Amino acid sequence: LSGIYVHIPYCKQACNYCDFHFSTKLITIPEMIQAMTWEIDQRKNFLPTSTLETVYFGGGTPSLLNPSSIELLLNSVQTNFKLDLKEFTLEINPDDLTQEKLSDWKSLGVNRLSIGIQSFQDDILKFYNRAHNSSQAIKALDLARNSGIKKLSLDLIYGFPYKNHDLWLDDLKKSIAFDPGHISSYCLTVEPKTVLGNQLKHGKFIEASEEFAAEQFEMLQEETSKAGYVQYEISNFGKENDFAIHNSNYWKGTPYLGIGPGAHSFDGKNRGSNYSNNNLYLKSYRNNQLSFQIEPLSEKDVINEYILTSLRTIWGTSVNRIAEMGMENFISENYKKIQNLEKEGLLSYIDHQIILTKKGKLLADGIAASLFI
Ligand code: SF4
Repeated sequence: LSGIYVHIPYCKQACNYCDFHFSTKLITIPEMIQAMTWEIDQRKNFLPTSTLETVYFGGGTPSLLNPSSIELLLNSVQTNFKLDLKEFTLEINPDDLTQEKLSDWKSLGVNRLSIGIQSFQDDILKFYNRAHNSSQAIKALDLARNSGIKKLSLDLIYGFPYKNHDLWLDDLKKSIAFDPGHISSYCLTVEPKTVLGNQLKHGKFIEASEEFAAEQFEMLQEETSKAGYVQYEISNFGKENDFAIHNSNYWKGTPYLGIGPGAHSFDGKNRGSNYSNNNLYLKSYRNNQLSFQIEPLSEKDVINEYILTSLRTIWGTSVNRIAEMGMENFISENYKKIQNLEKEGLLSYIDHQIILTKKGKLLADGIAASLFI
């Protein structure tokens, strides 16, 4: 079964590190909702199946929308697809949260909230130009906890170049004390077209060293593991029954449909993407044209993408799956390499599955690249 990703391309303000697609010109929201419901309608046959098991509203900032706009988009999904819903996730920011919104989302069927906390340190939040402070973060978590929406996930950023690790440990302890079923945590990366990228270029910001970031990654692994979380993907930690279904399906190579500006799609053979520009997206809509561009993938691309994403997960890379994809001699061609990586303690190869060790997880992307066909 497949999933649908609905990208809400708006934010209140730009976070300094962010290179996702969003706009702060909120005036186009009403037309954007119409355009996106139209896109859902037009692309109902994109996926190899008409049944969806996950709905994911991401962004941008979905919690910025009125619940009635979310309802319009959801209605369009319901009209065009059969829903066998296991998970309906909404990404939210702490500063948008009210009891009213939470109860509206719950009545729409939202059963999982992914909350953009990032840090509990006011000076770091300010440095990131987040729209919330730490007391709003704590209040939002309490509201979410009491909303009756069962599954909660927290987003955290590590690798802020502070002089020591105390603040990161504090963030981890505060997050774990709240006891969410799921934590996602990514390292602060400096992308060129961001405020941070500009600061780096002009010497106003100095990135954390690789070693410093790796130490914080190890702290993340240790603290979450002590608290009973399973690192089921390099950056994702869940309690039993709380692993993200929608994202896990991406990593396993399941097709998905992406709606809205900047959204990507995958039908099992081709990748597609929409213009990452709200005005161009709306212009196409006014001309009755999809802003969607298809990029056919070669067999090699599909296999390499599968290796890259699956190797990051606890389930690992299935050699049988690679054979089904057309590369039957993968093991015979890579056996020596895999044996060497196994000797170095970076992966294990058992029952036709290649699985990274704890040490290997630190070097995941490099190991994947060495196995590309
Ligand atoms: S709220 Fe999220 S999407 Fe928007 S700018 Fe900040 S990090 Fe990016």
